Amino acid sequence: MAFSKDILAAVKDRADIVEVIGERVLLKQNGADYVGLCPFHGEKTPSFRVSPSWRTYHCFGCGEGGSVIDFVMKQERLSFPEAVRALADRFGVPLPDDGPTRESGTRGMDVLRTAEAYYRELLQRRPEGETARRYLRERGFLEEDWEAFGLGWALDQWQGFMGHGMSQGFSHEDLLASGLVRQRDTGRMFDMLRKRITIPIRDERGRPIAFGGRVIDPLDNPKYLNTPETRHYHKSRVLFGLSQGLEAMRRSKRALLVEGYLDVMRLHQHGFAEAVATCGTALTEEHLKLLTRYADSVMLVFDGDEAGVKAALRSAPLFLNSGLEARVVLLPEQLDPDDYLRRNPPEAFAAQLQDATPLLEFLVFQLAQRHGRSVQGRQQTLDALAPVLGQVRKAAARDLTVRYVADLVGVSPEAVLSLVPAPRGGRAEPELAAPPLSQREGRHQRRVLRLLLEQRKLLGQARTLLRPDDLGDPALRTLLERVLKFSDVEFEEVRPEALMDWFPELASTVRSLLMDEPLHDAAVSDYARQMEAEIVCIKEELKDELFRKFKALVGSPEEELALRRYKKVRDELVQLKSTFRSTHKPRPELTLRPQGAEGSHAERARPAPTPPDAG
Ligand SMILES: [Zn+2]
Repeated sequence: MAFSKDILAAVKDRADIVEVIGERVLLKQNGADYVGLCPFHGEKTPSFRVSPSWRTYHCFGCGEGGSVIDFVMKQERLSFPEAVRALADRFGVPLPDDGPTRESGTRGMDVLRTAEAYYRELLQRRPEGETARRYLRERGFLEEDWEAFGLGWALDQWQGFMGHGMSQGFSHEDLLASGLVRQRDTGRMFDMLRKRITIPIRDERGRPIAFGGRVIDPLDNPKYLNTPETRHYHKSRVLFGLSQGLEAMRRSKRALLVEGYLDVMRLHQHGFAEAVATCGTALTEEHLKLLTRYADSVMLVFDGDEAGVKAALRSAPLFLNSGLEARVVLLPEQLDPDDYLRRNPPEAFAAQLQDATPLLEFLVFQLAQRHGRSVQGRQQTLDALAPVLGQVRKAAARDLTVRYVADLVGVSPEAVLSLVPAPRGGRAEPELAAPPLSQREGRHQRRVLRLLLEQRKLLGQARTLLRPDDLGDPALRTLLERVLKFSDVEFEEVRPEALMDWFPELASTVRSLLMDEPLHDAAVSDYARQMEAEIVCIKEELKDELFRKFKALVGSPEEELALRRYKKVRDELVQLKSTFRSTHKPRPELTLRPQGAEGSHAERARPAPTPPDAG
C-alpha cells in the first residue's frame, strides 16, 4: 500500500472520474456535477452525484462515496494497489517499477523477503531441517504445501537469522524494524523465532510482512508466536491466506473464516482456497472491510459451541454493520478444520458448508438451548443479544434485526427494542450539551462548514464566532474541531479533498458537504457575510433549544446550569447581531449581493473574540 502521495494524486487527477463511473452508471449532467442512480443501493430517484471538480462521488441515499480509486475497488472488487495500477495503466500515469515507492523503511520489507528465503532453504534443503520436514510430512503437509505458503524452519539458535541478515548487509535498525530480531534492555539482540516452523504472513500482494512461528515439539510453548506489529504489519488489517485465496474468493464470492494457520493451509490443500484466518487477534471491522472487496458472504467455521457462541457474539455486530452475510459452521465433535479434513473427505466439509446457519439464528438457537424457553430463559437470551443489537448503526438494519430476533425468540419487537441500548458512535452527550440534530435545523450548520471548506480564508472568522459546541450534529461538530486545529495560514493551503484522507471517519461528511448545492459565485466579503448570517441562525436555534431545555428543567437541580447556558448563548447572540450592520436575516442566501455593492467586510466592526468554552 505504499504508493507515494504524488502517485496517488496523479492517478486521481488524470483518471476521468465521470468516464470511469459513467461506464457503470448512466450519468446526467447537472450543473457542474453529474447525477445518476446509485449502483450501491437500489433506488428509483437519483441521489448519486459525481463531481469532476472535487474528483469524488457521493450517494446522498446510502452514504457510499469516495475517489475514483474507491469506486474501482468497489465495483471491480480490486484491492487498493490493484485499483491504482488499473487506473494508472488506463490513464497513463507512470508507476515506479516495483509499484510502491522505495520510501525509507522499505529495508524492513527487504529483510522480511531475505528471511523468507533463508528459512525456506533451511526447511527444504539443509540437514538441520530434517526434524521439521518429518513433522510436516507426518501431519500431511507436503512439499507443494510448503511451497504454496512459503514455510520455513528457524534454527534453535539465538542469532541464526540475525547473523545471516548482517552478512547480507542489513543494519541493526533494519533487522529490528522487521520485527524478526528483538533487543533486550542490555542491548543484546536475538532472533524472535527459534526452533519453529516459520509461516510468512503476507499482504494482499503476497509480500511477507510478518511471520508466525509454530512449535513442533509439544513440550515447547507457546504453540504459536507471531512477530510483532511493525510499520508494515497491522494485525487488525491482515488476514492470513488472503493473498493465496484472492482468486478463489473472487470466483465464489465467499470467504471461510477459520482460527489457525494450519486450518487455512489444510483447507487450501483440499480446494477451499477461500479460507483465511486472523493473525492471533479478534476479528475487526477492518478485516471485514478487506473481505467486502472480494466476497459477499463469510462462513465462520467454529470448532466448538462454547467458543463459537463467544466469537459469534463478538463478531455479530461487525457483520451486521458490514453488509456481509455471515453464516456459522459448527464442525462435529469439536473438531477444527485441520482435524476434520484429516478424518473426512472434502465432500463432507462441503456438505457442512451447505448446512451453515445464519449467524443470528445460530446465536439465538445456542443461547435458547443454554437458557431454555421459559420466560426467564428467554429473558436471559434477550439480555445476551441486546448489546449486539445496540451496536447496529444503521436504523434500517437495526429495525430488521430486532424484528428477526423477536420472531426467533417468540416475543414482540417492542419487547426486544426496549432492551436495546442506544447505538454507539458519537460520544455520549452530557445533559446540557448541544441538542441532537433532529431537534435543530442542520442546514445552517452544513452551510457554515461548506463555506469553510470552500472559502478557507474564512477560518479566522469562524474561529472568532463559532465553537464546536454550537453545532448539534456530531459529525459536523467533530469536523469543526479538527478544522479549528489548523492555523489560518495552514488551512488556506489545505485541499479539502485531502481532509477525507486525513480523517477517514469524517470522509463521508466532508464528501457530502463538498457535493452539497454549489455556493454562489460571490466576492469573498460576501462569503464572509453569508457565514456570519449562518452563524447567527445557528445560535438562534441553539438559544431556542436551550430555552426549551431550561423550561423543562425548572424546579430540578439542573435548572441553574441550564439557565446559565441559555443566557450565555443569548448574550453572545445579542453581541453578534449588534456588531453586524446587516443584522440577522432569516434567509441568509438573500444577503448575497453583487460584488462591490456594499461596504467590504473589513470595514465592519468585528465582535470581540469569544473565549473557548471551558466546559
Ligand atoms: Zn447509494
